[in-house]
Amino acid sequence: MRNIIIAGNWKMNKDMISTDEFCNTLAEYFSNYEDDMVGVIVAPPYPFLQSASDVLTYTPVEVAAQDVSVHKDGAFTGEVSASMLSSLGVVVCIVGHSERRQYHAETDDIVRAKMLELWAQNITPILCIGETLAQRDANETNAVIVAQLEGCLKGITDISDLIIAYEPIWAIGTGRTATPDQAQTVHAMIRSWIFDHYDKDAAENIHLLYGGSAKPENIGSLLMQKDIDGGLIGGASLNVEQFIAMINTANEILNTRRDK
Ligand code: PEP
Repeated sequence: MRNIIIAGNWKMNKDMISTDEFCNTLAEYFSNYEDDMVGVIVAPPYPFLQSASDVLTYTPVEVAAQDVSVHKDGAFTGEVSASMLSSLGVVVCIVGHSERRQYHAETDDIVRAKMLELWAQNITPILCIGETLAQRDANETNAVIVAQLEGCLKGITDISDLIIAYEPIWAIGTGRTATPDQAQTVHAMIRSWIFDHYDKDAAENIHLLYGGSAKPENIGSLLMQKDIDGGLIGGASLNVEQFIAMINTANEILNTRRDK
């Protein structure tokens, strides 16, 4: 049975002090929790990765980066390589976020190259894919998702160390969440694409997260869907109480699944 993953993408938010406060509260929460838990990931901005890791050391929380360079090292001012992330103990990294694709012209080829760099350092990529509103309205959602999967995973034969986040662009930061049905339909399609292009194990084991205005009020109905294995959460992950509320909901759902 797949675990549920709650991942927070802070984007370009918080500072050293608020990072510390958030992580201390989260660490405190985990010190009181003994049951088997959902997987929890937080992705702070680069400058706070080290301090977040330090505070969260004795918790099950994994600290993720929000991006990585395609380059290994050299004259690439402002870039951060996968080996640098690895040296900080980072084990997960978001790639292909729609904001990177939109504002930094990241193509599927670039995203793929970034994933290869991450895998070379044993860092798990969270690959983001999703359609625009115009594409959804034109009934192009499936075609867009398949093209992104084909482009990002071209020539990649092993996806055992990969998380995919379906993030409809029209739902990111807009307050407009995909309905559980809309999200489930796309997740099921992604899983079936993986079954067809890899195998049954790959399809059954891969975690497919939903992202796009997920929050405490709607995370439960999303996680009740068969093919939604967690959330990649932006805005609502910045508030530690809301983040913990979503972890609690995910735990309840995980426990109901286990009881079945
Ligand atoms: C995101 O950027 O990954 C995201 C899902 O943002 P939000 O939850 O704010 O829509």
